[in-house]
Amino acid sequence: MPHYKLEYIWLDGYEPVPGLRSKTKVLELDAFPTLDELPRWGFDGSSTRQAEGSDSDCMLEPVAVFPDATRTNGALVMCEVLLPDGRPHPSNTRARTPDDPDTWFGFEQEYFFYRDGAPLGFPVSGGFPAPQGGYYTGVGHPNVGGIAREIADAHLELCLAAGLSHEGVNAEVAKGQWEFQIFAKGAKQAGDAMWIARYLLLRLCERYEVDVNFHPKPLGAGLDWNGSGMHTNFSTKQMREEGGEAYFESLMATFEARHADHIGVYGADNHLRLTGLHETQAIDTFSYGVADRGASIRVPHAFVENGYRGYLEDRRPNSQADPYRITGRIVETIRGVPVPARNGAVPAEVVEEIAAAAAA
Ligand code: ADP
Ligand code: MN
Ligand code: MN
Ligand code: MN
Repeated sequence: MPHYKLEYIWLDGYEPVPGLRSKTKVLELDAFPTLDELPRWGFDGSSTRQAEGSDSDCMLEPVAVFPDATRTNGALVMCEVLLPDGRPHPSNTRARTPDDPDTWFGFEQEYFFYRDGAPLGFPVSGGFPAPQGGYYTGVGHPNVGGIAREIADAHLELCLAAGLSHEGVNAEVAKGQWEFQIFAKGAKQAGDAMWIARYLLLRLCERYEVDVNFHPKPLGAGLDWNGSGMHTNFSTKQMREEGGEAYFESLMATFEARHADHIGVYGADNHLRLTGLHETQAIDTFSYGVADRGASIRVPHAFVENGYRGYLEDRRPNSQADPYRITGRIVETIRGVPVPARNGAVPAEVVEEIAAAAAA
């Protein structure tokens, strides 16, 4: 039987931004493992801010498995962290994520490549390269440098080989800044996919001696350099199939009422990024608009043209946010939006009244 190299991956207890951790388990298996063939495992939580040294064991519960193209018989095993008694560890945001397989998510992960404390391509002697303008979707050495595209392309291949719906790559507005997009169905699955994609990028960059900087405003708020977001595109079955302007208005009213709850889980240091400049809305303001890249939520043209059906883009989440918390918050907010009765259908409250009357 071949030896499978299983990379168990989990989130540590660092706050406010969790880090990725992993270690390898070798198991002899007939074939690529299914989830239920993967055993629980343990780790020293006192080294990851997840336990005290005197009682340090935490458990790893496999929750998703993906092929790892960098190894012969390799697998990437996404795990939840459990306490010794089997309950979710407080750092385990995935366990608390309300799920809905019919809610679909598309993340646009922006980030900076960094080397020696500065974005890749910034002058090694200090100072700044040419101002923003030519970098976004740019081509040529002055715009994108010598290795960034090679890394972004290699990352794309690794994601596809892992079975992730990696949907595209582009060079971003600041020098050294890039974006990739990951699509997945379900709040937990989308979070798993994004964490695995981040893991693959970080691991790939080791051999280039390049760092991935996920901070939303690595160059500071005072300079004319873009920050990094993680725009989150989302759609529910209701939005894709029924839609309608009335439902959309009520959706947006609920999002507005919940603005602070969303900002609370949309990533640390977001006040540095959501300033109202650089294609963002100010952090204390909620707005939405058709094709408006200065709004909190951008409504694609096609959404309106298609009878207010399709997906919306939440532009507030930042690049270092925990994707489980983003998707969970969106699912929870949408659950609070009343679904209008279909044409001709009897509204749910009326059905309830009739049932109550009949029972009396
Ligand atoms: P932008 O114009 O904002 O840069 P991108 O092309 O980078 O847009 O990203 C668009 C995102 O929308 C992709 O991540 C894609 O997966 C996502 N998306 C497309 N259709 C849907 C849908 N029905 N539900 C959720 N997300 C979707
Ligand atoms: Mn994009
Ligand atoms: Mn972008
Ligand atoms: Mn976008």
